[in-house]
Amino acid sequence: MSLRGKTAVITGSTSGIGLGIAEELARAGVDVVLNSFTDRPEDHALAEEIARRHGVRARYIRADMSQGEDCRRLIAEAGACDILVNNAGIQHVAPIEDFPPEKWDAILAINLGSAFHTIAAALPMMRRAGWGRVVNIASAHGLTASPYKSAYVAAKHGLVGLTKTVALEAAGQGITCNAICPGYVLTPLVEAQIPDQMKAHGMDRETVIREVMLARQPSKQFATTEQIGGTVAFLCSPAADQITGTTISVDGGWTAL
Ligand code: NAD
Repeated sequence: MSLRGKTAVITGSTSGIGLGIAEELARAGVDVVLNSFTDRPEDHALAEEIARRHGVRARYIRADMSQGEDCRRLIAEAGACDILVNNAGIQHVAPIEDFPPEKWDAILAINLGSAFHTIAAALPMMRRAGWGRVVNIASAHGLTASPYKSAYVAAKHGLVGLTKTVALEAAGQGITCNAICPGYVLTPLVEAQIPDQMKAHGMDRETVIREVMLARQPSKQFATTEQIGGTVAFLCSPAADQITGTTISVDGGWTAL
């Protein structure tokens, strides 16, 4: 079955993993809706570029994933949502006793609450179509913890729980809901951290990547945005029709340790 003619809404998709997912779905013929909270000319240009390169329809819709009403408006404005990818996410690192409450609230809202709102808005559309795919971008931190990441770990574990619940509520209706749990992915944000880490640890690029950044990733290789996008495309294929309510780790062995 071709995915041509289907529409995907990907939250937080003007950079990094979200953009990689949009690229891979567009490559498979899917019309894509890009989103972030910025609404810059370059956000719209990104959508135009994807449409031109892959011969699909693509547009950008501004919506702030920390606001429930904006999340629901994104789905309504998209007009169609066969594939929903909840990808928007932020991070903050601090010991719990110093963790700013406003950061806790923002991380829970963007990394978890937004998925509740977008799924609630999109499921009726998927039920009417008799087909749908929800893919939540969780993390290895949806399955394991690290110190100083209380809000992120709590939100990502919550997202895995939400994934299972939605899968059960939609079971037998042609709709699946799964979570992808990436380890460290080489995004522009991660790439930008490498020079600072090299300086802080007095190590060369290869050593700081292997010993510091990928300390918990046994493959000692970053996952790529193309690999995460390819995993989403697989979950949208007929081969994945009976995969629902579960997690797929793309983490170089992190959670096998
Ligand atoms: P990124 O910072 O490159 O991209 C995040 C995207 O979310 C951007 O497009 C940003 O504009 C958007 N965003 C942030 N706040 C928003 C808001 N309030 N409303 C709408 N959009 C908002 O990050 P990334 O590394 O590509 O991460 C994407 C997802 O993958 C996140 O959920 C993250 O937790 C998860 N993840 C990343 C890694 C990694 O190593 N990079 C590993 C595991 C999981």
